[in-house]
Amino acid sequence: MKTLRRSLPTVSLDTNVVSLLAAVVALVVFAIDAFTPLDIAVAVFYVVVVLLVASTGNRAATHGAAWGCVVLTLLGFVLSHDDAYSSGAVARCVVSLLAIATTSILALRNLAATATLQEQVELLNLEHDAIVVHDMNDRVTFWNRGAEALYGWTAQQALERSEALLRDAQRLSRTGSIAVRFPEGEMWWSDEAYRIFDYARETVPSVAAILARTYPDDRALVLGVFEQAAGGASQVDVEHRLAMPDGSVKHVHYVAYLTTTQSGEREYVGALMDVTETKRAQEALARSNDELAHVTRITMLGELAASIAHEVTQPIAAILTCGAAALRWLNRPTPELDEAAQSVAQMIRDAKRADEVIQRIRSVAKRRDRLPATVDVNAIVGESIELVRAELERHRIELHVDLAAPSLMACCDRVQLQQVMINLILNSVQAMAEAAGPRKLTIVTRQFDDGQAQVIVQDSGMGISQENAGCLFNPFFTTKAEGMGMGLSICRSIVEAHGGGIWAESPQAGGAVLQFILPVDEGRCHEQ
Ligand code: ADP
Repeated sequence: MKTLRRSLPTVSLDTNVVSLLAAVVALVVFAIDAFTPLDIAVAVFYVVVVLLVASTGNRAATHGAAWGCVVLTLLGFVLSHDDAYSSGAVARCVVSLLAIATTSILALRNLAATATLQEQVELLNLEHDAIVVHDMNDRVTFWNRGAEALYGWTAQQALERSEALLRDAQRLSRTGSIAVRFPEGEMWWSDEAYRIFDYARETVPSVAAILARTYPDDRALVLGVFEQAAGGASQVDVEHRLAMPDGSVKHVHYVAYLTTTQSGEREYVGALMDVTETKRAQEALARSNDELAHVTRITMLGELAASIAHEVTQPIAAILTCGAAALRWLNRPTPELDEAAQSVAQMIRDAKRADEVIQRIRSVAKRRDRLPATVDVNAIVGESIELVRAELERHRIELHVDLAAPSLMACCDRVQLQQVMINLILNSVQAMAEAAGPRKLTIVTRQFDDGQAQVIVQDSGMGISQENAGCLFNPFFTTKAEGMGMGLSICRSIVEAHGGGIWAESPQAGGAVLQFILPVDEGRCHEQ
């Protein structure tokens, strides 16, 4: 506001001079038009008067000048022609009036536009209100004097601060920016992108430079994504590894969206995130889960063994004692057959007791473990996949799921069925980790004959050799250096305890197919 008030005296001085000049021009034109016999449209020169007044920026004065010129034109016409109005004179008068009217309308419209513009400029120049405009990336694109006064910024400082904040944010979040423009494929990297790739600032950003840092196994993937972008995909999203010059491996995740530049070129603007730490944390978590599962299994087995040993030791010790006594009775010079028979009878009683103890432990174990209920087979398959998803991603396994519709309901223990699924999937993951070629896991659920639900887990791993096929489900059978050989054996116990069956095949095309069937629920179970 202050700025405007200071500028007012200068404006009014200019206005006076210009208004005076306009008045002189008007009088001269009127004198020539009214008092000289010239047969030309002298009144057309009134447009100069209108333009001069309009140049002062005063809309009311411009209005007045326009009407004044119209009046002077008509007065001049009347004064210069007594009674006889020739058609030429009328035409000249009409032309002059049209010229004045057109010029006045245009000048007034121009003044209205200038006034609107000036209001906006005034707003931006307010010294008591701070106005700061940010773009979509939160960069400051405009700030007024009020903002300068409030934040103490100069234009350059504000820009530098905005860029410094962006740089810091990128460094702290380990997120760089990469923009690619098509069709040329011209690229731009932010400082953080250079740091992630570990390139010097002089390196010219290019796909070749990215590929040179990409982990060899992931190059085809990265190139494929670049081709997708060149083909006009609306979004690209890729996660891959980088092989760094110091031998370390980084994990990065790049997400970019297609935009169109002002010049009409296609541009992908995106974020390159260094997710190495997150990946390591996920892997460590997956490893600890594996180890925990392993330890839990061993502990359970150990506990079971300990309780069996404890309960059975006593009758076995008694059998030994009775056996020894029976021998002594029989080895006498005159064998004491009655006594020996009693010892043998005692041995039989103790052996029966040992058998009962074992039966009891088994039944206790069964009662504790199984909680049969009506469960949705598709849902259990889905839940199990979620539990091992991190493992599938870590090994870059392509997963195909084909679920029966409508889903099948089985009467079984939810947790045990999950345990079977997880065991089969993890076995497949391990089989594929050791084999070369594509890693594809297919999980299918479907109706098998009437009244049975079938689950198939097929992989593209190393497959099952003929000699191993027969003993796969035997306890402690394993071909892995650190395997326990209990997984498939437990799976079989669980499936058979539910009245189902499990088997394995190695198809001609390679890989392994493990499948099991469970009877579908016919109302014997309750909802879980
Ligand atoms: P382990 O945990 O020791 O591997 P399992 O009972 O889970 O015990 O498996 C026993 C053996 O069966 C494995 O060592 C492996 O040789 C074989 N096996 C299991 N699943 C697969 C599969 N999907 N592909 C090839 N072999 C398999």
